Amino acid sequence: MTPVIALVGRPNVGKSTLFNRFTRSRDALVADFSGLTRDRKYGDGRLEDRPFIVIDTGGVSGYEEGLDAEMAKQSFVAIDEADIVMFLVDGMAGISGDDQFLADHLRKANKPIIVVVNKTDGRDPDIAAADFFELGLGEPVPISASNNHGVRSLLEDTLAMF
Ligand code: GDP
Ligand code: MG
Repeated sequence: MTPVIALVGRPNVGKSTLFNRFTRSRDALVADFSGLTRDRKYGDGRLEDRPFIVIDTGGVSGYEEGLDAEMAKQSFVAIDEADIVMFLVDGMAGISGDDQFLADHLRKANKPIIVVVNKTDGRDPDIAAADFFELGLGEPVPISASNNHGVRSLLEDTLAMF
């Protein structure tokens, strides 16, 4: 079975940057580029001989400020489709209301969840991650998607669960 990983989180936390790392593509539009699709985006990834599928969610225009109803719906569909959910949060910004909203939904979804604390470059990653324990979704994992820190070990640990 090929595991399906959904990337969910409020706009601007780095989902598309991580999607591109996982798929080694420039496929998902990263903020700073224009593009308006709000659909889910599917990509193929591979770690050595292990294939996986990754789903990017949310608006990709880069101009979204909050999690609107359509983006929330896309996230919920992706969560349903996934074998495991990576819930991305912003280690520079801290916990927001949109994070709490998604956390409340994820606590009720009967899926394995990894809280991924992105943008931990420029801070102590473990201290940045510890802030997100209070989401109540287990031990947060620090990464920097743009610097490619922690990305490989996150993926290895995730795929080891299947
Ligand atoms: P999305 O809306 O969740 O898909 O977020 P994007 O992947 O479009 O990234 C939003 C912004 O955060 C872009 O300007 C990225 O370059 C930036 N970004 C993504 N990952 C990191 C990171 O690890 N560290 C920092 N400092 N910026 C990041
Ligand atoms: Mg995006």
